[in-house]
Amino acid sequence: MSVQWLLLLLPVAAASGWYAARFAEGRRRPAREPPLDRYLEGVRYLLDDQTDRALQAFIEVVEIDHETFETHLILGRLFRRRGEVDRAIRIHQNLAARPSLTDAQRAQAMYEAGRDFMLAGVFDRAENVFRELMDSPSVGMRALEGLQSVYETQRDWHQAIEIGLRLLDQGGASASLRIAHYECELAQEELAKERTGEALEHVDRAMNLWPGLSRALLLRARVAELSGDIPLSIQLEREAVERTPALATLVVPKLERLHLGTALPRGTVNLEDTLRTLANDQKITVASIALMRLYRRTNRLDEALTQLHRILAQRPVPTSGLLEAVRWMKILPAVHTYSSEFAAFEKALMDQLRSQPLYQCSNCGYQGRAHVWQCPSCRRWDTLRGIDLDLDQPPSQTFQV
Ligand SMILES: [Zn+2]
Repeated sequence: MSVQWLLLLLPVAAASGWYAARFAEGRRRPAREPPLDRYLEGVRYLLDDQTDRALQAFIEVVEIDHETFETHLILGRLFRRRGEVDRAIRIHQNLAARPSLTDAQRAQAMYEAGRDFMLAGVFDRAENVFRELMDSPSVGMRALEGLQSVYETQRDWHQAIEIGLRLLDQGGASASLRIAHYECELAQEELAKERTGEALEHVDRAMNLWPGLSRALLLRARVAELSGDIPLSIQLEREAVERTPALATLVVPKLERLHLGTALPRGTVNLEDTLRTLANDQKITVASIALMRLYRRTNRLDEALTQLHRILAQRPVPTSGLLEAVRWMKILPAVHTYSSEFAAFEKALMDQLRSQPLYQCSNCGYQGRAHVWQCPSCRRWDTLRGIDLDLDQPPSQTFQV
């Protein structure tokens, strides 16, 4: 039972409004007893999370009492919750068509129908309903948020920005951050067409809305890279990860690629400097793992050992850290006798790393292997955090920003 439902129902369960409504209607139809017991029974079922029984109770109440607005609203929401969106739409539309409703009640019923359309995937109708309601004094703000969801789902970033700015005017929570991400989405679309000038305009707007936004820094880094300014690209990537250490799993492979995969002089030395700063000063574990890998590949085993101690002190130890540890041990002369066991150990860890999530949403706990800027589960922006490093990922995957 979600808190939203409890909040919705508790005032209704108090039944004061219900009595008032029945009293008014009772004057028209005095012969009927109010089905209050059945109504409260329905509320009790809802509180116990017994949706089917609650639904049955409310259907019976509505059959006896055709007029009560709140009961119809609950019934419609229950159908929507069960996935019976067609029935929910019918109830909410019929409710909205009643001539006796107040403006606020009609707006509420229409708003519910808009949410039904959203769930049914009929976005043009949801859009029409929410647009009609966006100036409503009672549900205007929620209608704007509904519109925002419609445009986000359809990746229509220009319209999403227009609505976002209206929400910003009305003091909508986190409106600036959302709009900044829409600008970043547009920048990314321009980058895909290699139009760096247009991309930078969107990035600048994002920065104005949300100064220091790490995603915008990463986009600037990508523009610098495309323009051949690798040192600037490296500097911006570093700045992004220093601001948001949780993005290290995204940034460290890019730093490796920028230092080693380009014609930059002293690539290895500079990469070591960068990683040492991130590992030693910023205490970023992923940087320690990358540094250990660098030391292993250049046969500096004692220096690798220092990073190994740091990695193994973490709880939980990232699988990538354990894998790097095993790869380090494999080249020690003392373990040559057991090389096949170590190879099996390495393979087990590689398989585990390939199948486990690499990112987790800090808001809802969603886990996935790919980094995305909007959580697919809770739809919040910039909440995915790196939990492990894919050590053997192909370089093409690191081009995403
Ligand atoms: Zn989430």
